[in-house]
Amino acid sequence: MSSGEDPFDLASIITAHDDGNFADAVVPPIFQTSLFTFSDYDEMITVYRGEKVRPTYTRGLNPTVRAFEEMLAKLEGAEDALGFASGMAAISSSVLSFVEPGDRIVAVKHVYPDAFRLFGTILKRMKIEVTYVDGRDEEAVAKALPGAKLLYLESPTSWVMEAHDVGALAALAKRHGVVSMIDNSWASPFFQRPLTLGVDLVIHSASKYLGGHSDVVAGIVAGSKEMIARIKAEAYPYLGGKLSPFDAWLLIRGLRTLPLRMRAHEASALEIARRLQKLEVVETVCHPGLANRLPAGLNGTSGLFSFIFRDGVDIRAFADHLKLFKLGVSWGGHESLIVPGEVVLQQKAQPNSAQTFGIHARSVRLHVGLEGTEALWRDIEEALAAASQS
Ligand SMILES: *Cc1c(COP(=O)(O)O)cnc(C)c1O
Repeated sequence: MSSGEDPFDLASIITAHDDGNFADAVVPPIFQTSLFTFSDYDEMITVYRGEKVRPTYTRGLNPTVRAFEEMLAKLEGAEDALGFASGMAAISSSVLSFVEPGDRIVAVKHVYPDAFRLFGTILKRMKIEVTYVDGRDEEAVAKALPGAKLLYLESPTSWVMEAHDVGALAALAKRHGVVSMIDNSWASPFFQRPLTLGVDLVIHSASKYLGGHSDVVAGIVAGSKEMIARIKAEAYPYLGGKLSPFDAWLLIRGLRTLPLRMRAHEASALEIARRLQKLEVVETVCHPGLANRLPAGLNGTSGLFSFIFRDGVDIRAFADHLKLFKLGVSWGGHESLIVPGEVVLQQKAQPNSAQTFGIHARSVRLHVGLEGTEALWRDIEEALAAASQS
């Protein structure tokens, strides 16, 4: 199911910003500066009057950050984009720009846990209600939408990896005059471009595949000029979760190889998922690529999936015997990772994780990195042998 070729303009990200600016540098420089001075009083006043747009202070506008925003906007087919200091900063600022006290949000079940917690704490205190629906059940979504302000999507969902028909859900939102927003971190724009499916705003934790090397925490939102302007007007400057110039520079570097990395993550993860599915000790593999077909608009699959062991496997021994798969949260980098569900279920901040996020006690989540399919499979086989002996 490896495609991603179609509307994705690889050449444009390879050559982005090699456009004669900055002494013809192939890579945009890092504008590691908090402020930009004016040549004279006249220039300053034209900028203050809004007659000229140029950087004055990095929390507002920084050329390196802007270069990343323009690249990502292009990849998502958006008019504009805004970079943030984390995925959660992008999510909170974007959501808060479209709701106020008394409003209701419809969200799909099993969203990223910290988005769920944002909804259940700060938004709850602001009297913003959230209705959770199964994103696979379009009738349930349609029923929940009337009177709502925002439809919050994530597909596939965290951990259980339910893939939704994003275009159909976006159309429902449009019909009810509801703004739609999606967390597209899992697929990346290489495999899913939600704006082309009718979603209004697309958000990424850039800490995952956009950066791709586990060295940045960042976020971004992309959409129409009008909607991005709304976020830019208040939440972006006043909550102040601005992406830093150096992190933006790392993200630009990451984007250049996004298609190559995504193809490699897809191939290895899908092969490992298929092999796991055949094992006696595995009950279920949750990987959208194992279904007969992917939902319309999802053009491939990435490296993150989960599976459930049958009773009797020592998951602690399995995790401890893995050498290439390291125990660690997050994902989207070059390295392979494992998170055992039984560990997440012990988390004090979220005592109901099993019900809330669909996390099975015998499940493990894998992120398949770039180490190579056969080496990773050998690692799994050796760990399984150790886990079955003990
Ligand atoms: C990591 C993650 C986030 C949050 O991003 P941060 O950069 O860690 O703030 C949001 N959504 C998904 C699906 C994630 O995996």
